[in-house]
Amino acid sequence: MPSETPAGPGKCPLCGKPRVQQYRPFCSRGCRDRDLNHWFGETYRAPAHEGPDGGTDDDRFEGD
Ligand SMILES: [Zn+2]
Repeated sequence: MPSETPAGPGKCPLCGKPRVQQYRPFCSRGCRDRDLNHWFGETYRAPAHEGPDGGTDDDRFEGD
């Protein structure tokens, strides 16, 4: 597996580290929580439930 892929799919959108499948598309629960908090904060002001950057719908919630 190539480890020198440019920034793109397969990397954490927050810190750029290789993402972990368990927390995809993030690299860790910390980054995932950070993103969720970010979204929750935005949701308070934005009625739309859709993200600004139309990416893949990968915001499924699965318990630990
Ligand atoms: Zn990260």
